Parts: sequence; structure tokens; C-alpha cells
Amino acid sequence: MELNTQYDVAIVGGGPAGLSAAIYAARGGLKTIIFEKTLVGGQITITAEVENYPGFEESVSGFDIVEKMQKQAEKFDAEIKIEEVKAIGLEGLCKIVETNKGIYKVKSVIIASGAHPRKLAIPGEEKYTGRGVSYCATCDGALYRGKVVAVIGGGDSAVEEAMFLTKFASKVYIIHRRDQLRAVKILQERVFANEKIEMIWDSVVQEIQGGDFVENLLLYNKKTKKTSELSLNGVFIFVGIIPSSDLVESRVDFDDQNFIKTDETMHTKIPGVYAAGDVTHKVLRQIITAGSDGATAAFSAEKWIEENKDKFK
Ligand code: NAP
Repeated sequence: MELNTQYDVAIVGGGPAGLSAAIYAARGGLKTIIFEKTLVGGQITITAEVENYPGFEESVSGFDIVEKMQKQAEKFDAEIKIEEVKAIGLEGLCKIVETNKGIYKVKSVIIASGAHPRKLAIPGEEKYTGRGVSYCATCDGALYRGKVVAVIGGGDSAVEEAMFLTKFASKVYIIHRRDQLRAVKILQERVFANEKIEMIWDSVVQEIQGGDFVENLLLYNKKTKKTSELSLNGVFIFVGIIPSSDLVESRVDFDDQNFIKTDETMHTKIPGVYAAGDVTHKVLRQIITAGSDGATAAFSAEKWIEENKDKFK
């Protein structure tokens, strides 16, 4: 494969963090390339309604926000390539990004590779994925019109997606392992006021059962120590996220869940290498904080390239 040397900064991941980094880097005059392995937009594209992104007083879909971000990045000549990054050489002054289609030598790298849904890792989960088990209410919710579904989890995602599912399903159970939700209060209030939603507290799913499709959950109540069965048609699993940080494993600092640690400039411990968005260790994972990280990472990369410009000659 040919070595491509025309770019200043490579951004790994095309979600809100990567796209924001691209807007700032390209607008700042850096020759910028984004690598995205599947679809531009990241996890937020599957969120039907975003209510808290500033500038949109009516709710807006995640897809619409990232579509605008993509157009804005391209307006400043950032290039977006649908290529999967296989390896990154971070050791030298220049960094080497190897994808399934080419090899790129760049001055700086921004890791914005995001996160993916955590699985429950219980019997039946894999077998019934796509046959009643889903990780995306926006994608699959309409299949459950008039049916009974359960959402597993108690965070913002579980609660938001449960409310979205009430548009289609006749009944939505939220099954949570504790007796209190983790989700923010405003979402909790809406869930408790929704007549289609019933909470099942203190319970974990031990097994997903069925024939060709999901028919049943085997539940275990941690307080009463009793097992029970719940008949339903679909299960939506929202039990948190896992960072997509394998590419830089053991070379940057991680927290105890493998989110990348950076300083306030989004710098990892490697010169010229930055991280942004959901893949990083942070307190608030939102489009706005991903955007802020991306902007900061691009600003830092630009500064670093400028400070080292004589070495790159
Ligand atoms: P999260 O906040 O980490 O919540 C995960 C939920 O799943 C928790 O309630 C957790 O229970 C439960 N859980 C974890 N492992 C489990 C297991 N093995 N079995 C059963 N339950 C399990 O994840 P998230 O809801 O996906 O949110 C991820 C991030 O995105 C958060 O920072 C969130 O604030 C953000 N987000 C924001 C919005 C919004 O602002 N509109 C929307 C979606 C997501 P415990 O509570 O007992 O730990």
C-alpha cells in the first residue's frame, strides 16, 4: 500500500467529537482527514430526540445534528474516509495510521473513537440479537407496535429509550438492578408519570428465552432472592458503554474502565496525540462535551504542530 503524506492531522472516529475536531482543525488551516469505519455520526445517530443541545429549542434528532456537523467539516475541506483504522504508530515525531485501505503519515492524531454498548453477557443474549434483543430503540422500536417490551438498565439511555418505545409498544417494563434510577431527575419524573411504563426494581435478567424469537425473561430479584418469568416480545439493553480504545492500548493512560485519560488540553501522554469525546475519562458524556473536547484537541494539535514545525521539515 502506498504511503500517503499529505495530511497534518488524522482524526480516528466520525462522531460529534471527531467532527468538531475536524471543523476546528480544518478551519485552522490543517490538512485534516477523518477515518470512520462504518457510518459518520457515531452513537448519537440512533437517538431520536435530543432536547439539550444548545441552539435548538425544539428537540432535534441526533442524525440531523451530525449531518450538519459533517457538512460544516467538509465546507472547510476536511476529508472523511470510510476506512477502518487497523493500527496507529505513535512512537515517532510523525504518526503512522494504517487503515484497511491505506497508510497515512501525519503530524498529529486525535483519537475520537467513541464507545459501544455494553452487553449483559447472559444466556440467550447473543442467540436472540436481531430476533427480539436490540441495542437501538430508534432502529427497532417500530417493530414492536402493540407489543410488550422490556428495557434493561437505569441510566439516561435506558430511561430515554423506554419513553421512546412507548410510542409503539403497548407496555414497557424497565428492569433495573437497584431501587433507584441513575438517570437525571427530569427523565425520572417523566418515566414515573408515563402510564405505559412499569418499573421492575432490584432485579437482574438471568436468561433470555424463547423459540425462534424472544418470548420470556428469567428474572432474579436481589432483595427477595426469588426468580420469576416475564412474558414479552422484545428486550432493549442499555446497560452502559465500553470505550473503543483498543487501538492505543497500553500506550496511553487509561482509567479503570479503559477510558483514555487526558489533561485539560485533551493531550494523552504521547506528544502530538490527543483524545476527545466518549472514549475519554470524563464526568459528562454529551454531544456538547464531545464537541468541546474535539475543539480543544484540534486547537492543541494545531499549537503542537506549529511549535514543532522546524522538526517536521
Ligand atoms: P450509564 O449511565 O453508565 O448507566 C448504565 C445503567 O445500566 C446503570 O443504571 C447501571 O446500573 C446499569 N447496568 C450496568 N451494568 C449492568 C448489568 N450488568 N446488569 C444490569 N444493569 C447494569 O450508561 P448510559 O445510560 O448508556 O449513559 C452513558 C453516558 O451517556 C452517560 O454519561 C449518560 O449521562 C450519557 N447520556 C446522556 C443522555 C442525555 O443527556 N440525554 C442520553 C443518553 C446517555 P447502576 O445504576 O446500578 O450502576
